[in-house]
Order: sequence, then structure tokens, then C-alpha cells
Amino acid sequence: MAPRRILIFFSDTGGGHRAAANALTEAFHFQFPTRYEINKVDGFKECAPFPLSQIPATYFPLTTYTPQLWGGLFHSSNSRLTLPPSAAMDDALLRRGCARVIRQRKPDLVVSVHPLINRAPCNALKEWNPYIPFATVVTDLFDVHGMWFSAAADLMTVPTQGAFDCGVRWGFPPERMRVVGQPIALQFAPQFNASSAAPFAAQAPNQNANQAAAPNEPPRALRARLGLQPETFTLLLVGGGEGMGPLRAIARALDAAQLPIQLVIIAGRNEALRAQLEHDAWRGPVNVQGFVNNMPDWLRASDIVITKAGPGTIMEALAAGKPLILNGNLPGQEEGNVTFVEQSGVGVLRTTPEAIVKQIRDWLVPDNRAIAQMQANARRVARPDAALEIVKLLDALIH
Ligand code: UDP
Repeated sequence: MAPRRILIFFSDTGGGHRAAANALTEAFHFQFPTRYEINKVDGFKECAPFPLSQIPATYFPLTTYTPQLWGGLFHSSNSRLTLPPSAAMDDALLRRGCARVIRQRKPDLVVSVHPLINRAPCNALKEWNPYIPFATVVTDLFDVHGMWFSAAADLMTVPTQGAFDCGVRWGFPPERMRVVGQPIALQFAPQFNASSAAPFAAQAPNQNANQAAAPNEPPRALRARLGLQPETFTLLLVGGGEGMGPLRAIARALDAAQLPIQLVIIAGRNEALRAQLEHDAWRGPVNVQGFVNNMPDWLRASDIVITKAGPGTIMEALAAGKPLILNGNLPGQEEGNVTFVEQSGVGVLRTTPEAIVKQIRDWLVPDNRAIAQMQANARRVARPDAALEIVKLLDALIH
């Protein structure tokens, strides 16, 4: 039988939406090896008219240099009064382009992992064929924007109970919502063991799975394999796919504090940051990386993860059992993620390099139980196999 076609709408606004689309793709291939053909579409680039089609390219400068403007846009479009016109405008701008892509690809299921490319593809799909299912996979953790709930989706998966409650408040039918977690790379899932990973990873589309997985590799061996000191307490610094935030200032403060630590700094696609970090003189051990394709390995090799409040990185760190220091959040969009981390007891928000150094110093005091407690909490709230759970629900929509 010919494979059934799935169309996933995402956009490269940050790294998280593509990471979620990739996680679903590899989970589909893993769970149902020959049943599906998956197509991913950057909804802004491929469906929006100019200048909206440039949104992915402007995301980094907009969120880095004018975060307050970004937060203002988030909040001002997220009230009972302003959401309906905002959603209608978004729909009007994207629907034609989405309809064109849907007619071309003739999907058997359409999935959105983006709050702004959600209502338009749903409406376009239902105009083309009302019997084809549409699903939204929410990738913000808590107190999420109402735009996620603006499509008449047949199924909505959400990462937490907080996001579920939010959907109920926005009037989305609870019987069509499921709390299943954030779709993250399959390498985090217990079902995905090293022996089955190798042949699968070679053909997997997920960038995160394109190196041999090592889920059970002891941290010391993993550190040695990654070129790190095997025995040294390891802090991982990352700023999403784009290398956002004051990573360099934090790293320099930690290095100057002369703690018994080593630093791994993942600059992502921020080549300028990477070049600076490689050029800097460091007192202690520092390992600088650009965009890595094996994030699960780097997370597992670390003891603490220092990051902005990106939902993908947060849930990946928790799946690896690692406590978090959030060094900041995008106004609006990532505020709920901070609430989630603090309420779950898996990390803290520390917004200055000095406060981060102090926190690490406190945690490193012998007999401090805080890290062990956060590790236990991380394992409790993590949903490492969420992508597999989600694709089972999506499969059931078709069959
Ligand atoms: N990521 C990656 N390699 C890198 C940096 C980041 O694969 O070098 C991935 C990371 O594992 C996560 C995503 O990019 O899945 C970042 O998503 P998040 O939601 O944390 O932040 P965003 O980039 O969307 O703001």
C-alpha cells in the first residue's frame, strides 16, 4: 500500500518548532516504519506573502535587539478583545498560501507545531476536504498564547496540565485535548536503544539523531568521547538554536570565579558568538561548539544546564535528568516556561552572571541536596517519549 501523506507546518522562528517537527517525523518513522511519508513546510517562508515570508530571518534580530517590542506584540494580541482580530488577520494572510501547498501535497493528515501557522492551514484544509483530520501540537509549556487554540483542530496535544487549563480557558473543547508532553528527539525515549538506533539514525531526518545514540553510556565515558574532562563537574550553556542571550558574559563570570567546573558553550547558529568564544582566553576548561546535531549527548554529559527559557531545551534537559538555571526568557512567549520550571522544582531563574555564579557556588557546597532533589523532580516531570505518544494519537486520527 502506498504510504499515507502527512504535512507538518512549522517555521524557523527559533529552533524549537523545527526540532518538534523533526521529533514527530522520526517518531513516525520509528513507530510506523513504512506507513507514512512526511512533508515539512515552513509556513512563513512558503505560504506567507512578502514581507511576512521574511519573519524567520527577522526573528533573531527582533527578539535579540527589541525583546520588549516582541513581548508587547505577544501580550497585546492575547486578550479576549484582541485575539479574534489578530487570528483573523493571521488567517487572511496565510490561508491562500497554505491552500496552495495543501492542494499540491494532497495530505491525509495535517499537523501544525506553530501558533501562528495553525488556524490558516486548518481552514484551508477543511475547505479542500472537510474529512481530512487536522491536529495542533502545542510546543509552549504553560500559560500559552491563545493563538494556539484558534484553529478548529480535531486533536490538540499539549505538553503540561497548565497548557491544558489554558486551552480550556480559551474555550477549546477539552475532549479534543490530550496532555502528552513536548515532542523531543527520539534519543531521549527509553524505547529507543542503541542497537536499534544505528540503522534507523542513518536515514532519520532529525538532525538530533544523526549520530549514534548512546542512551545508556555512563556520563564519564560520554564526556571522554566528547573531548571533555571525564571527572569534572560540567555546566552546559546554550541559548536555543540561535545562540541567544548573554552566554559570553555568563561564561566569563563563571570562568573568573575559578570554581571546580568545566564549561561547554553551545553557540548554535550564532557564528559571531562562536568566533568570539573561540578567540577568548580562558582560565579553566572551556569547550566551545557551534550548532550541534547531537544535543542529547551534550545534555547527558552535563550536570547543570544554563539556558534561556526555550521550551525545547527545557524539556530535553529534564528528559536527560538535568537541573536548570534559566538565565532569562523572551518577554511574553517564554514567561510561562519559567513558571513551569520553578513550580516543578527543577530549576531557578537567575538573570545576571553574578547571580548565576552565586547559585552554582551554593549548589557545589558539599552535602547540598538541592541538585539531587532537582534531578529527582526532573525525572518525575519529564516526558521523554512524548513524540511516540503523540504520533500514536495522530495515527489513530487516520485509522
Ligand atoms: N538545538 C540544537 N543544536 C544546537 C542548539 C540548539 O539541536 O546547537 C536545538 C535544541 O536541542 C532544541 C532547539 O534547538 O531542540 C531549541 O529550541 P528551544 O525551544 O529551546 O529554543 P528556540 O531556539 O526555539 O528559541
